[in-house]
Amino acid sequence: MAATPTAPTIYDLDRDAIAEHLDGLPSYRVDQLWQGLYTDGVALDDISTLPAKLRGELGQKLPAALDMELESISDRGDTVKWLWKLRGGAAIETVLMHYKDRSTVCISSQAGCAMACGFCATGQAGFERHLTVGEIVEQVIRARRVAGDKRVSNIVFMGMGEPMANFGAVWESVERLHGDFGISARNLTISTVGLIPGIRQLAEAPLPVNLAVSLHAANDELRNEMVPINKRYPISDLLDACHDYFDKKGRRVSFEWALIDGVNDRDSDAHELAKLTQPLRAHVNLIPLNPTPGYLTQGTPPARVREFADLLVNLGVNATVRKNRGTDIDAACGQLRANSVAAEASVDGAGANDGTVTKINPPTRRS
Ligand code: SAH
Repeated sequence: MAATPTAPTIYDLDRDAIAEHLDGLPSYRVDQLWQGLYTDGVALDDISTLPAKLRGELGQKLPAALDMELESISDRGDTVKWLWKLRGGAAIETVLMHYKDRSTVCISSQAGCAMACGFCATGQAGFERHLTVGEIVEQVIRARRVAGDKRVSNIVFMGMGEPMANFGAVWESVERLHGDFGISARNLTISTVGLIPGIRQLAEAPLPVNLAVSLHAANDELRNEMVPINKRYPISDLLDACHDYFDKKGRRVSFEWALIDGVNDRDSDAHELAKLTQPLRAHVNLIPLNPTPGYLTQGTPPARVREFADLLVNLGVNATVRKNRGTDIDAACGQLRANSVAAEASVDGAGANDGTVTKINPPTRRS
């Protein structure tokens, strides 16, 4: 595990902290800087109201956090994935997705993840470090610059990492994205593997953001196998926390369910799931399992995905199938693992991240 750097980068500080950090800079210059960074969302070098010499000095004191390693494009330009190198060598990924009615950025909250869900590529690679506020916020800004006229309206914390395990930085970035970028709270979604203390903290926080919970199994025996943290936070306690969230915020919780062939796609799974989610009037997001290097079980075949969705709908559940984006560039749900860094490390033989994959045993198929 690596330490998170403490020296601030350009999006780490709020307005007052920037003024303090740049002590001596006249306040109208701070205003111009803030306007450029947040309202216009341009790179420091492109803030034309600031003289070039000053931009150079500011760049020394407040460097950018993300250094682009690789940009991958899929779906005819509607899905773009970036691999960023961070200070200290860690790497993360961000995905921009354009839809007919909106553009969404999927951002990472940690480099790697400690939750060890066997079917998720990030979980297979392990945890490296927490991201800072600036590292989280800058992902949105960099994507927004590329999106241009296709305005970024939605942000999902569904990239690498477990947002509730890095709650402080995640919440501060939510406030910044809402307050300074004008992203509406109802268009901000935090997805969690089910860390109950985080859900409770989110319920007490002022903005009514969306909560998504990666459920994947509706009984503890199966969920313990798929999502190891379930042993600490079992389903009944998790559902209590979701009920509280719904009561406090009036926002419907959504549940993610990666459909895995013969594992969690039986009729009995649909019935159990319906029983859990109906009282919450929750939305169920079905995600056909995306391939990852360390998990050999197949996703549910498309015909069965349809049947499973129809069964849920017939049981009164508001269920939809998530359309996969960017599978060919490993940008889809559960595929983010900062791939090319692993490949590079294996070429020069450096580091533990040598591109080899630990095979994690899939949960047993059930009849
Ligand atoms: N750690 C958080 C944020 C990640 S969101 C969480 O677990 O919610 C990424 C979503 O993709 C989660 O619902 C995750 O369970 C799901 N996922 C992981 N691996 C997947 C895979 N191989 N195929 C489809 N979905 C997957």
